[in-house]
Amino acid sequence: MSRSRIVLKIGQRQARNMRRAVRGRRLTITPLNSLTLDRDDVELANSWLRDRRSWRDQRLVSRYEEEFARWNGSGYASAFMGGRVALSACIHALGLRQGDEVILPGYTCVVVPNAFQYAGVKPVYSDIELDTYGLDASQVEEKITSKTRAILLQHLYGLVCRDYEAILELAERRGLKVIEDCAHATGAEYRGLRVGKRGDVAFYSSEQSKVFNTIQGGIAVTDDESLAKGLRNYSEQAEPPDEDWVDRQLHQVSLNYYRFKHPQRWWKGDLAEVRYGRERLVSTTGEEEQGERPTHYGRRMPSPVAALGLNQLKKLDRYNELRRQGAARWDFWCDREGYGKPYVIEGSLPVYLRYPVMVEPEKKRQRSWAAEGLGVEAGVWFVSHLHPVRRDSIEGCPRADEAVERCINFPTLV
Ligand SMILES: *Cc1c(COP(=O)(O)O)cnc(C)c1O
Repeated sequence: MSRSRIVLKIGQRQARNMRRAVRGRRLTITPLNSLTLDRDDVELANSWLRDRRSWRDQRLVSRYEEEFARWNGSGYASAFMGGRVALSACIHALGLRQGDEVILPGYTCVVVPNAFQYAGVKPVYSDIELDTYGLDASQVEEKITSKTRAILLQHLYGLVCRDYEAILELAERRGLKVIEDCAHATGAEYRGLRVGKRGDVAFYSSEQSKVFNTIQGGIAVTDDESLAKGLRNYSEQAEPPDEDWVDRQLHQVSLNYYRFKHPQRWWKGDLAEVRYGRERLVSTTGEEEQGERPTHYGRRMPSPVAALGLNQLKKLDRYNELRRQGAARWDFWCDREGYGKPYVIEGSLPVYLRYPVMVEPEKKRQRSWAAEGLGVEAGVWFVSHLHPVRRDSIEGCPRADEAVERCINFPTLV
């Protein structure tokens, strides 16, 4: 966006703020993004911008991988520029190839099937359950063919998926590999183990809308030594992002902090937008929505991003505890308003990246009631079977259809 467009937009927004202030309305609401960014993350990003000498030093990246693995209780970890890239590394490590099939939930992000398609692996969609929005184990079995090699087990909104055990058991019985998509669930536990520990491989995301935040970033883990070699091998072939990209990503830490987190974000956010708005990175590009592989895809993590990851990791347990407290307030709200609460399976400890609720379809289409009445931004994950693609052609997933129409989600760091 050009600077003059940004200035115009900001003028309009501040005029609206004036009108709201006059009418005694609130000027800020709780947003959904970047809620774990604090001033120390901004200072850290700025210190890396001031001194670029160690941008290519991989030692800090190794440290991040080791610390993450230790924190997660995993044997090995490899870090990349996105959860989707970490997924590509998992696909590589498992040796999935042209002609293989993978079973995916028909309610996911488009970048998930993309990662398989880039490797020539065919996604086969299976319906979800509406308790935790994960794959319904009873549906998965029918989708298995002689070409099926793996199942993608997804934990959404920070909940542990209802059929976790059943899917693992099914995969074991049918000789299939399991990839756990923990992009929403970093730190969630089941029977004392972090999610991601039970599948053959797993990946996590530190993209700006996820549980912890390096603006973009992802990490893959495994306990298996030979799969770890595969992850490492993918990482060694990957290039680091170019300096301009890293520069923009580090500036975006300030931009997001002032837009989403700072108490006076109603005006500081606008100032940050004038300064850094043109540098903003989009997570999913138009070409990815079309299923094409962007040229910048498949990069490994550079040290400034690993430094942010290490700083976020220190705060993650505390933020996840706060998210659980925030969720308890939404439980209360659901009871009062007569909506169903998300299902927490026995033995699980969720992290509630967001608090999902099934509401009337018109309340999903028009969400200003949440800002006005509750002071929060209501999220739309997911707007289709393959978010954020508006029109897709996934059929035969009626429960996913229903979630697309009715599931909204609230921020939990309120
Ligand atoms: C965000 C997301 C991903 C991909 O993570 P990125 O870091 O954005 O590449 C994968 N799966 C799900 C369910 C996600 O929400």
